[in-house]
This record gives sequence, structure tokens and C-alpha cells, in this order.
Amino acid sequence: MLELKNIDTYYGNIQALRDVSITVGEGEIITLIGANGAGKSTTLMTICGVTPPRRGEVLFEGRVINGVAPNKIVQQGICQVPEGRLIFPDLTVQENLDMGAFLRSDKDGIGRDLEQVFDLFPILRERRRQLGGTLSGGEQQMLAISRALMARPKVLLLDEPSLGLAPLIIRQIFDIIKQINRESNTTIFLVEQNANQALKVAHRGYVMENGRITLEDACHKLLANDAVKKAYLGL
Ligand code: ATP
Repeated sequence: MLELKNIDTYYGNIQALRDVSITVGEGEIITLIGANGAGKSTTLMTICGVTPPRRGEVLFEGRVINGVAPNKIVQQGICQVPEGRLIFPDLTVQENLDMGAFLRSDKDGIGRDLEQVFDLFPILRERRRQLGGTLSGGEQQMLAISRALMARPKVLLLDEPSLGLAPLIIRQIFDIIKQINRESNTTIFLVEQNANQALKVAHRGYVMENGRITLEDACHKLLANDAVKKAYLGL
């Protein structure tokens, strides 16, 4: 469904991605793990069209999308939940969710999706009239994911959803990521430093070091891999 082929991405003269190739099949949860500064966020921004690659191709449903404007990429069905959540703090929960559906005109569908989102995160239903900025960190992450879901994406890109959250909330967020994938068959590309949790929810994983993919495998195999255990799982 989504494919990165031999991607090189630069910031000016600095090369952030080196010959990166990743495939994400329809209905899969794929995770990209790696240390701080490895190039994970750059990979997501390359997919979204924010930092287009200097070499290589990004394909979505068989079509080349590198060079396409970011808003057009969203319209095609790729939606990112950025690191640090970036919800609108001065808008209510409901208004934040409305913003997610901004590009849609199917009122009935939007209403149904809103109910689904509230079923996934009942706390957001309770707090629908509260300002986004007054929510806890975990609730803001739930809102950021929900806002992306309101665009009804085919592929959901998640950038470090566990960052700065308490272990109990992290578990809850990852359970819901699995549920979203299972119930609506949404394809998920999950970028994480929390390798332990990410490898438990995803089907396949890629390891990135200094802008390169150094390992790829089924997650259960990566969890058992000695190098991964030592470098990323603290074992
Ligand atoms: P993090 O977990 O900190 O977000 P990451 O794996 O997502 O790390 P990136 O943010 O993609 O890593 O950064 C990859 C490399 O590109 C790093 O060396 C970083 O310093 C560099 N980089 C990122 N953004 C820029 C920028 N706007 N200008 C110049 N260099 C950048």
C-alpha cells in the first residue's frame, strides 16, 4: 500500500536518510524504531511531502507521491499524528475533532466517525466542550489520534505516541492502536523510541540507525534478536 524505495532525504547539506526502503502492506501495523536522531521523524515527513526526498520514490497505492503537496497527500488518505501531539489548545475537544474532518463533506459519515471516536475514547465524549489545552498529556494524545481518525485515513502515521506519558496510559494508547487497526482495517505506521511496546503491537518492524535501515523482520523475531535486545530493549 505504501512503499519507500531507496530514499535519500537531506536538510540542506546534511543527509538525514540514506537509501531507506520500507514497505507497508494494507492492514498492517509497521513500526520503525531507533534512537533519538536516527531519522524516524524525517521518514514520516518524507512520506507526508514535508521533506521531499532528493533520491528515491515514495509510492502510495502504486502511485508516486513524492513531489505531491502535503495537503494533497492528506486528501489521498495519509494522515499523520505528529510528535508532541500539536492539538489546538484554544479550541474545544469537539472543535479539534471538527478540524480533523475539515476536508470531508459527507455529513452522515462524519457523524458516524465521531461516535466511533467517542466509543474508542469515552473520556473525550465527557470532555467534548473542554478546551484542548486543559486536557492531560494522555488525553491530548487521544485527541490527536482521534482528530487524525476524523479524516478517515487509509494510512495512519503515528510519531512517538508514547512520548512523555505514564506507563498505564501508554498501554492504553497502544491497545487502542491495535483496536483501530483491527476494527477499521486502518494501516498503521508507528514510529517509536519505546521499542518494547512498539514491537509488541506491530506485525513487522524496521530498525533505523544514523538514517539507515539496519534490520527488518517480524516483530516477534526482532524481540528475540540479541542486538535489538541489547540496544533497544535494555536487556
Ligand atoms: P527524534 O526521536 O529525536 O525525533 P528521529 O529519529 O525522529 O529523532 P529526526 O528528527 O528524523 O530523528 O532527525 C534525523 C537527523 O536529521 C538528526 O541528525 C537531526 O539532527 C537532523 N535534523 C532533523 N531536523 C532537522 C532540520 N530541520 N534541520 C537540520 N537537521 C535536522
